[in-house]
Amino acid sequence: MKRVALLGATGSIGRQAIEIVEAHPELELCAAASGSTSLDGVDAPLKQVGGDLTELLDRAQPDVVLNAVVGFAGIHATLWALEHGVDLALANKESLVAAGELALAAMERGGGRILPVDSEHSALYQCLDGSDPEHVQSLVLTGSGGPFRGRTRDELADVSPEQALAHPTWSMGPKITIDSATLANKGLELIEAHFLFDIPYERIEVVLQPTSIVHSLVRFRDGATLAHLGYPDMRVPISYALTYPARAATPVAPLDFSVLTLEFRTPDIETFPMLALAREAGERGGTAPCVFNAANEVAVAAFLAGRLPFLAIAEVVADALARSAGAPARDVQDLLEVDGAARKLAEEGLSVA
Ligand code: NAD
Ligand code: MG
Repeated sequence: MKRVALLGATGSIGRQAIEIVEAHPELELCAAASGSTSLDGVDAPLKQVGGDLTELLDRAQPDVVLNAVVGFAGIHATLWALEHGVDLALANKESLVAAGELALAAMERGGGRILPVDSEHSALYQCLDGSDPEHVQSLVLTGSGGPFRGRTRDELADVSPEQALAHPTWSMGPKITIDSATLANKGLELIEAHFLFDIPYERIEVVLQPTSIVHSLVRFRDGATLAHLGYPDMRVPISYALTYPARAATPVAPLDFSVLTLEFRTPDIETFPMLALAREAGERGGTAPCVFNAANEVAVAAFLAGRLPFLAIAEVVADALARSAGAPARDVQDLLEVDGAARKLAEEGLSVA
């Protein structure tokens, strides 16, 4: 029996995770948490709405933590799992992006591992299959390009939250859906891939594959490229991470090759500057990714609240990055301070934008 602590149980990933747990007798929920939404109807012995997730984890003593909290708020749970050597099924990419080296150091001390739930990283994990990073020429992250792929900047000036929330291929929570529309999500994923797989940024590519059938690829130095294909359905990577290495069956349909065609496009980083900003933040290192993430969270919330135009999201983030030092964080306390300071800078930027 594998005991799962599910954090973010009421969200898009959380609800699909419950479906996976219910379908597999070898999985059981030992704890469930949400930020503010009720957990009525979630069947777990320990439940917590809001509050300190690490206290819940201390009590639950899970075999695996599925961190499906949205945003930087997931940081303590990520670090708890890594410090305790407990398997971390990671959907909450923001925590790994922000904590970076600190998270890797915690994993080293705790002796645990990260099983990526983000579909691209699950795909890369499976294609890599433990390969020596030296054998890898590059990682190729795929993205759909979001609802605004192909548009010009002029055409993006007045887009509404409702338009940005209409993702063409994935049904997800609001924050990541906006991140997909700006390409900030692919930017966060670039940094996430760097830390997960220890591959330098110059060897991580991004390509658009509008139907989200190819979940990512690995180019090896011998000229072989391995790809991971499937219909876009998060139950597959959630199940992979929770049942690893058993690759339990899921109800997802097999690919129908009689109608399948695959197209690839190059992302337009002039129109969607968040991808380039994330790459810059990643390459700067230290706490620059934490600043990128914090400013993005503030800007996305403001856009969703109708307080910020779509194109200004990138301006707010660029400005916060330019105005912060980005020195490395020594500990979590440092990181919390950097996150808080970046949020303040971004809030100031909102009034200017
Ligand atoms: P969501 O908004 O649907 O759900 C977020 C969940 O987090 C909710 O249960 C909410 O109550 C909980 N939460 C928020 N703040 C919390 C706090 N302080 N403490 C405890 N719980 C808190 O979000 P989502 O789309 O499910 O995404 C969750 C994470 O998974 C994000 O990091 C996202 O980037 C990542 N992810 C999601 C998808 C997807 O398909 N939805 C795909 C890949 C990665
Ligand atoms: Mg993803």
